[in-house]
Amino acid sequence: MGGILSPELVDRVREAVDIVDVISDYVPLKRVGKSFRALCPLHEEKTPSFYVIPDKQIFYCFGCHQGGNVFDFLKVHDGMSFPESVRAIADRAGVKIEEKYFVGRPDADELEDLRRMNLAACRNYHKWLVSVPQGSAWGFLRNRKISRETVETFQIGYAPPGGKALLELARARSISGEKLAKAGLVTTGSDGQYRDLFWDRLMFPIADERGRIVAFGGRTLTEAMPKYLNTAETPLFSKRRCLFGLDRARDEMRKSGHAVVVEGYTDCIMCHQMGIRNAVATLGTALTSDHVRVLRRYIRQLTVVYDADEAGLRAAERSLELLLPEQMDTRVAVLPEGEDPCSFLISHGAEQFVQVLDSAKELIDFKLDMVMADPDYQTVAGQARVVDELMELVAACPNPNSRDLLIRRAALRLGANRASLTQICRSKSRPSRQNTGSEKPTSVTKRVAAERELLGTFFADVQFVKRALETGVTDDWFSSHECRDIARAVFAAFEAIGSNEIRSVLSRLPSESVESRRLAVELEELNTRKGRLDRRFEDAIECIRKIRCQDQARKMRTASPDSMCQQDWREWQSLVRKSKSARSDDGPDGDRIAS
Ligand SMILES: [Zn+2]
Repeated sequence: MGGILSPELVDRVREAVDIVDVISDYVPLKRVGKSFRALCPLHEEKTPSFYVIPDKQIFYCFGCHQGGNVFDFLKVHDGMSFPESVRAIADRAGVKIEEKYFVGRPDADELEDLRRMNLAACRNYHKWLVSVPQGSAWGFLRNRKISRETVETFQIGYAPPGGKALLELARARSISGEKLAKAGLVTTGSDGQYRDLFWDRLMFPIADERGRIVAFGGRTLTEAMPKYLNTAETPLFSKRRCLFGLDRARDEMRKSGHAVVVEGYTDCIMCHQMGIRNAVATLGTALTSDHVRVLRRYIRQLTVVYDADEAGLRAAERSLELLLPEQMDTRVAVLPEGEDPCSFLISHGAEQFVQVLDSAKELIDFKLDMVMADPDYQTVAGQARVVDELMELVAACPNPNSRDLLIRRAALRLGANRASLTQICRSKSRPSRQNTGSEKPTSVTKRVAAERELLGTFFADVQFVKRALETGVTDDWFSSHECRDIARAVFAAFEAIGSNEIRSVLSRLPSESVESRRLAVELEELNTRKGRLDRRFEDAIECIRKIRCQDQARKMRTASPDSMCQQDWREWQSLVRKSKSARSDDGPDGDRIAS
């Protein structure tokens, strides 16, 4: 939603505060030379690696690699959305932002309205539970050994039977059914009339990162299906991204750098009751990469706990495919058959649960164990298939280093040849989104390295931005989408105000592209090799130009190998010539002199 607030307005708000003042509210900063240093408030550390650089109005942590401007800080530290962070800073600095800048997205008042309704519903569900301390709801809670204190802490509630309770209450306060429907609290029946979504269910309020109620999960107390019912997607709530308990777990996660992910509400609640306060639960879905993106702000390591039954192991395997490429230290803990985290905690206690967590396996080892236990693995054909599948997973990892480590581990455990595994992995490499599929992985890496190198020169000296534009470089010279975002923002900043400053670039980067923002700060901040800029600029341009020509030539060839007309043919030959010219195969750091 960055397009709504113009970069000029965002800049004006940003200029009204000093990032040093804002961050000082969160963590004591100590001056070192031109910067300020602190223990990172975003990850656990013993020696300070968090820097605030007033000249550039940015922050950067050399430990967890978070970085950006003052809005990024509020986003990662407080879980604010971009407009929320702009508002917060504007309020602080006394800058008035007209409401019109927020049109096009659900406006802040409407969201606030939805939150208010959720909060009111939460209070009433809770009241309905505690006012009648008996019945099936309390039976369920007693069964799960959920204490009275926990009922209060998590504001667990009860939706009475009948399907009218909430609706009647709202009507008495002249809140329309339509509004309640928008908040996901009521639904329309077959007769077209509104009725409560939840009835005769035990209610678990779901909060966002900042503890504001955004949705509910309702556990049936009868035979009614489904067993668990969630609020549908609303402007406040997305199931794929939301983690139950995150608001309560985030401090502990930040402290320990570690999260425990379980599947159910009661699992998560019991963890907290037993003192495992870094536990969160997915809402009946497998862990998604969206979840990981949320968690990454707080932790470096996560342990996913699964049940040992068939369904649990299948779920583990499914999420494995999602998590392996995520570059997060992920471990898998499996409970004994027939147990879930809640029942295990009740019967074995927290200490033994922690032992299970400690014995969790790395993702790749877990997969290898499953693979090797498969009866199919005993046959040659089975082994080939298994290795194939495994390498497909490994090939999806974006980081060549971790790919290599995974291959090493697999080779060791499977007694396979590392070189041939590497080869299989290469053959599985997925082309990056915008390529046709014929590109070799080596040139992708080399190209991205050149793209980063080029962007580095842009930050080092504004004359290179000018020269690049004069040379005809556009944003689609950049194949990695982070680099493309940054190039676009650099060009936009240059065209608007003739600047290459990181602060103006950050204002023009999409607020939601965390990776691009981080990379921009890194390219600017870690750009230590200041020398040889001319050479680096030219080499990078040359390298990208060459790979682009190769690409185009290949595309022409594969698109119409037989039907190329005379003109196509000439064009193709010239592309091939261009792609072979200059410094044959060297990357941007090649040492040969340009011919
Ligand atoms: Zn950090």
